[in-house]
Amino acid sequence: SIDFTHIEKSFGEMAILRDLSLSVASGEFLTILGPSGCGKSTLLRILAGLERQDRGTVAVDGRIVDHLRPKRRDVAMVFQSYALYPHMTVAANMALPLTMRRLSAAQRFPLLGRLLPNTRSIESGIRRDVAHLADALSISPLLDRKPGQLSGGQRQRVALGRAMVREPAVFLMDEPLSNLDAKLRLQTRAEIKELHQRLGATFVYVTHDQSEAMTMSDRVAVMMEGQLLQVASPSEIYANPADRRVAEFVGAPK
Ligand code: ATP
Ligand code: MG
Repeated sequence: SIDFTHIEKSFGEMAILRDLSLSVASGEFLTILGPSGCGKSTLLRILAGLERQDRGTVAVDGRIVDHLRPKRRDVAMVFQSYALYPHMTVAANMALPLTMRRLSAAQRFPLLGRLLPNTRSIESGIRRDVAHLADALSISPLLDRKPGQLSGGQRQRVALGRAMVREPAVFLMDEPLSNLDAKLRLQTRAEIKELHQRLGATFVYVTHDQSEAMTMSDRVAVMMEGQLLQVASPSEIYANPADRRVAEFVGAPK
């Protein structure tokens, strides 16, 4: 599980997260839903280790991770903007997390490395994994292009592929569909759900789109001004919104 306990964060004088506590069960699909500027990305960035909270702790499976650098946390993050390397092909961008991990393991332990598959077979293994994933994301024809030669939606899929390729225990997704057109958004929604079911990984998903939150999630955490107003299943939130702000935000009758 992931446990945020009494997290507080300010930027200058402005309190962004206010005594926020939240637990996400292992294997759960939890969505943080809230309006622009309420602190959603900040919370994800704290979990990923890209930002440090002022107070409170973050624990993964009971171990506090606050002191761990981003690379040492078993999480992959898909950003609002795609953050692809422009000089590298789509295939190389997608393969990067694997190349770094597998090649560095073989290089760091030369003796053990002899027992491990050699560099050539590591590379062909990576190519196979990337090809498989590209097929699932319908981007196979794009593998040899550079990010600059892709549409926004295609770039978004490549970014998704790069996060998926490591098969981490925790996926953090920050509005990964925001740059897609309506049709592609629906299709990619379904693919992310399928991915969640297939991997059994924990997903913490961020959006300000209530229909996305309500259709994809096991539970939704409704966030406003740095606090959680309600954390419950979509049907519970519809049936029993905690207050008028929640009801209005999710479009439930009240
Ligand atoms: P959106 O839906 O627009 O992405 P969000 O819920 O992800 O919004 P955050 O990015 O977490 O919101 O930002 C929360 C607040 O913190 C905003 O008011 C933002 O301006 C402020 N903020 C975020 N990062 C910084 C920073 N590095 N320095 C100063 N203020 C920041
Ligand atoms: Mg954000």
